[in-house]
Amino acid sequence: MTNLNCESPLIAPKEQPRNLRIYDSFDRPLRDLRISVIDQCNFRCVYCMPQNQRIEHYTFLKQDQWLTFPQIERLARLFVKLGVGKIRITGGEPLLRPNLSNLVGKLKGIPEVKDLALTTNGSMLIQHAQALKDAGLDRITVSLDTLDPALFRQINGFRGTLEKVLDGIQLCQKIGFGCIKINVVLQKNIGHRHILDLVRYFKGRKPILRFIEYMDAGNCNHWSPDAVVPASEIVKLIHEHFPLRAVRSNYYGEVASRYEFLDGEGEIGFITPITQPFCRTCTRARVSADGKMYPCLFANHGTDLRPFLRQDIPDDVLLNIIQSDWRNRKDRYSELRAKSLSSQKSLPKIEMFQIGG
Ligand code: SAM
Ligand code: SF4
Ligand code: SF4
Repeated sequence: MTNLNCESPLIAPKEQPRNLRIYDSFDRPLRDLRISVIDQCNFRCVYCMPQNQRIEHYTFLKQDQWLTFPQIERLARLFVKLGVGKIRITGGEPLLRPNLSNLVGKLKGIPEVKDLALTTNGSMLIQHAQALKDAGLDRITVSLDTLDPALFRQINGFRGTLEKVLDGIQLCQKIGFGCIKINVVLQKNIGHRHILDLVRYFKGRKPILRFIEYMDAGNCNHWSPDAVVPASEIVKLIHEHFPLRAVRSNYYGEVASRYEFLDGEGEIGFITPITQPFCRTCTRARVSADGKMYPCLFANHGTDLRPFLRQDIPDDVLLNIIQSDWRNRKDRYSELRAKSLSSQKSLPKIEMFQIGG
């Protein structure tokens, strides 16, 4: 059974809200904007910000380097003019940003924003879920890799408790979030039992599990292809215990390959940046907490928009910068990685906690 609440309202290109359509060098439209509101995090996940690695020498942004909420809103209003209809707030851990629900309310007030989502580690949802809902947040994605309390803490650097995240997810359901997704990053060392436990727990409930292949995002996780579990293995494993069938994408550019349970108990998704890259339909621009626009998750350079967000600089100037950046975009890192792993992996890249996934 397909959970209709999770279908994007942006199904057909002609329904896109836009004044100006812009396309990059590979004819990909600009449709989604991911805004990181903070680079700090209360977790230290092994695949993102492992403790005792180079991250401990990274200098987190100071508060006065963050884009302010009015600056983020201004940027969002410009991006929607160029075709963006979906915005995702991310981080670091976005719920560490004070008064985040105020920003949600501002972004929700932009009529062209048809889908406003947040990705969080879930550890502070208990305190913030109601305010986010009241402010108009449409969807929540919670990152949760295991239901084993000890493994959970091991993965996140012994920073948080599983119980709090599960309580947060339950609260989101209770207060009526229509679509909740659970992001699971899989690394080789995670046993099959943990994967099946997650499926068993969420099957038939509202949240949709999405298994994500471990990516070579940033440099501090010291990624190696050997640590990747191909999604096809997980599909096979789950199918053996809970029969599945593939279903069509909800919309152009959807990153997850979707499957539904044959017994009608919901669906799951697989995000396959390593084994089946989806650069060809990548419609996402990303802005870091200090206002740099990145055309790709694996970029090593972003265009600094912050100096142009001063009140005395007209919107047209900013629009031109964003447009020309997107029009020149040639990024397809994952496709190239698939062809040549060795030549890609040592390049310096922005870290995942700076750009938000
Ligand atoms: N802190 C929030 C969270 O964890 O949900 C938001 C930011 S986090 C960088 C966004 C997403 O990226 C999370 O779902 C996380 O699991 C995923 N992620 C981080 N590092 C990853 C990696 N190396 N490979 C695949 N996914 C990763
Ligand atoms: Fe923090 Fe999210 Fe990165 Fe984990 S994945 S360290 S929760 S930013
Ligand atoms: Fe998009 Fe870059 Fe990921 Fe390809 S590698 S899907 S271009 S973010």
